[in-house]
Amino acid sequence: FDALQAFDPDISDVLLSELDRLRSGLQLIASENMSSPTVLTALGSTLSNKYAEGYPGRRYYGGCAEVDKAENIAIQRCTDLFGAEHANVQPHSGASANQAVYGAFMKPGDTLLAMSLPMGGHLTHGAKVSFSGKWFNAIGYGVDKQTENIDYDQVEALAKEHRPKVICAGGSAIPRLIDFERIRAIADEVGAIFWVDAAHFIGLVAGKAIPSPVPYADVVTFTTHKVLRGPRSGALVCREQHGKALDKAVFPMMQGGPQMNTIAAKAVNFKECATPEYAAYAKQVIANAQALAESLGEKGIRPITGGTDTHLSLHDLQGVEVTGADAEKRADAAGIVLNKNAIPFDPQKPNIASGIRVGSPCVTTQGMGTAEMKQIGELIHRAVTQSDGDPDHPVAKEVRAQVTDLVGRFPAYAR
Ligand code: PLP
Repeated sequence: FDALQAFDPDISDVLLSELDRLRSGLQLIASENMSSPTVLTALGSTLSNKYAEGYPGRRYYGGCAEVDKAENIAIQRCTDLFGAEHANVQPHSGASANQAVYGAFMKPGDTLLAMSLPMGGHLTHGAKVSFSGKWFNAIGYGVDKQTENIDYDQVEALAKEHRPKVICAGGSAIPRLIDFERIRAIADEVGAIFWVDAAHFIGLVAGKAIPSPVPYADVVTFTTHKVLRGPRSGALVCREQHGKALDKAVFPMMQGGPQMNTIAAKAVNFKECATPEYAAYAKQVIANAQALAESLGEKGIRPITGGTDTHLSLHDLQGVEVTGADAEKRADAAGIVLNKNAIPFDPQKPNIASGIRVGSPCVTTQGMGTAEMKQIGELIHRAVTQSDGDPDHPVAKEVRAQVTDLVGRFPAYAR
């Protein structure tokens, strides 16, 4: 770091300020985490230099003996961790892993059935602004108005009506467990591939804290940087019968050279995830998310579906008459980082939204427990309902002082 600081203070200052930002606020973005210094070491290694198009033992470049070892280790650990038949650890991100599913199983114009974005799905599941919505005939399913859970009857009816090539389960704002068995049965009934995008919750699966989609799905894609706590990247596991098609779809169809430093970092992360400490972490992530959802609910910030089974909860702010955009800004001014989020049947536009999404992965990594979650819920409520987004507002200042005290007791990247 000293060499970087001497050569490029502009960038070293950004690195230091970002560490400062992480340490001085509450990080509640549900899709973020703080990967270990061990993972970061592999990420910042000389493996970044190596071109290795192809797969271990079948590369288009020489000099791949060492990176082959790293990729083989990553593949073995990934299949072991998830009890999968086949793994591909090359996708650069969650979106790239999803592209591989389209590449392997669909042609432009084919039909996809997936949760729609405003109901909790992801951009890459057929949203009109994404390649997935532009190139494929995407049919969206949603949630039941009463329970706010996935409307499985609707999934079944739409599947029978549209006969999709692929049915996708998973999304970015789903607080509850998904009934994989039910969707598998629907996929079988219409002869569709069953794809689970487990980006959000795969870490909970790795820690054996929630049921796995792997026995049910043809393919499971995921990001490696959310609850899982690895490097910013993606991966997929699948049934052996689809291995060749998905490997070809990752490379050469969608990607060029894999990032071997990131693959090494994924290997390190998969090893971390197989430890008892990580299993305890995954359980605590859920306990903390539940405590936080309950604390906000007690203050009138209603959790969608009544709570959570996972690492995140989605909250309806209409009861406290604040928009998602205002809530995000007010929380931010008080040192609390969270995001506005559309809620099912949201009357607001997506860039305003009626909800917020909060997640427990980061604060749990920092060592916080359910008592702290109760306090965080109260702090969010105060900031969101009693301040105005100005960092100098007295309530923002008061909340920020309590946030500073709290994060000071659980420092991020404590030495
Ligand atoms: N799939 C889901 C369900 C996600 O939530 C995300 C990102 O948040 C992605 C895919 C895309 O991942 P990436 O940002 O790594 O492309």
